[in-house]
Amino acid sequence: MDLNIKVNDKDHLDIGGADAVDIANEFGTPVYAIDENRIRDNYNRFYNAFSKYYPDFKVFYACKANTNLAVMKILESEGCCVDTVSPGEVYISEKLGFSPDRILFTGNNITNEELKMVHDMGVILNVDSRSALKRLAEVVDPKGLKVSIRVNPMVGAGHHEHTITGGVMSKFGIMDNEATEVYKLAQDLGFDPIGIHSHIGSGILDPEPFKLAIGSTMDIAGKVHDDLGIDFEFVDFGGGIGVPYTPDEKALDIDHFAHENVEFFKGKLKEYNMKNPTMFLEPGRYIVADAVTLLVQVNSVKQSYRKYIGVDAGFNTLLRPCMYGSYHHIVDASKMSAPITQEVDVAGDVCESGDLFARDRPLPDIEEGDILGILNSGAYGFTMASNYNSRPLPAEVLIKDGNPTLVRKAQTFDDLFRNQIIPDYLQ
Ligand code: PLP
Repeated sequence: MDLNIKVNDKDHLDIGGADAVDIANEFGTPVYAIDENRIRDNYNRFYNAFSKYYPDFKVFYACKANTNLAVMKILESEGCCVDTVSPGEVYISEKLGFSPDRILFTGNNITNEELKMVHDMGVILNVDSRSALKRLAEVVDPKGLKVSIRVNPMVGAGHHEHTITGGVMSKFGIMDNEATEVYKLAQDLGFDPIGIHSHIGSGILDPEPFKLAIGSTMDIAGKVHDDLGIDFEFVDFGGGIGVPYTPDEKALDIDHFAHENVEFFKGKLKEYNMKNPTMFLEPGRYIVADAVTLLVQVNSVKQSYRKYIGVDAGFNTLLRPCMYGSYHHIVDASKMSAPITQEVDVAGDVCESGDLFARDRPLPDIEEGDILGILNSGAYGFTMASNYNSRPLPAEVLIKDGNPTLVRKAQTFDDLFRNQIIPDYLQ
């Protein structure tokens, strides 16, 4: 199986050389446990695969997947760049030491104030619409300002309908057939449009849609190049590269994937007689998903009409199973080699029937007090957590060479009061 699972000599789940049960005992549950070396390995495997075939290549980590400051610092230290979707993400990135030229902003439906704010922070914008382009020209001086345009390559894919970001049902980007007009508008407004961006969706393990999207984005870029003589400084094909979540899913052969796509890309550059632009990719999930395990504790085992394993976290802590019906592999970190004996539901502590981490999941005999590891929780895990049911957000722990360090304290009940104001007349 291609899941990132290691077991230590106590038959416990190993996370980056640390014992998952010890982490749970020391820091409490629920807790997100982050394996630093795995993040570094994922980044380097990805970067090396593409740069080997196309050296003028940059990775912009899509930090919406995981904005833990330590995670971003790790990637900063590796030389990675960052893709952001809100002024807050730009702010965090700059504070952590990413220089503006290492940051892209790919927001959508943003206000004039936000457009000006991210421009003033010095980052390059992937502009999502004619409206944003015109409004940007109103709030900043467009003369010679480098911008990139997000196009809809009319290819979409993803692990769930909500994560598909290309095609006729997508709100993102400009239409493929209006590209020349919009690039011309950018020029007429005084901008220097030097980039093109597309992103087709998230959680894609099938290589085919990527190839189609590269082809169609390059056909759009080639036409704009022919029509307007624009020499693109960069071409950005977004992120979306999937990772295995179930035991039967196979990881992409990233070297082969890179080779195929780069060759295809080079062919398109030749076809349209384009100079060699820098190639950008924006993986989020690929870098962080399998580097993080959510550790939870079993607090009740209940036989009702079905058997429920009740744990001390819910969709307020990890939303993906409830929001997308996503599968997350679950292991009993306390006894990794115990045989599978039952099919049970793993339920959270949120007061909603949909609060389930798994239905009919084959698991060993599980006792109250056991620590479960919910794997692949690093992407869209903590970043989508909430205070629903007035539950404080959990802690995050970073493991480096077997040593765990607290990198985010769990919230306290007092945090639930923060920023709320009870009017005097209600006191
Ligand atoms: N780039 C953009 C513009 C995105 O919206 C996203 C997420 O959907 C990504 C990159 C990263 O996607 P993933 O985490 O699937 O690689």
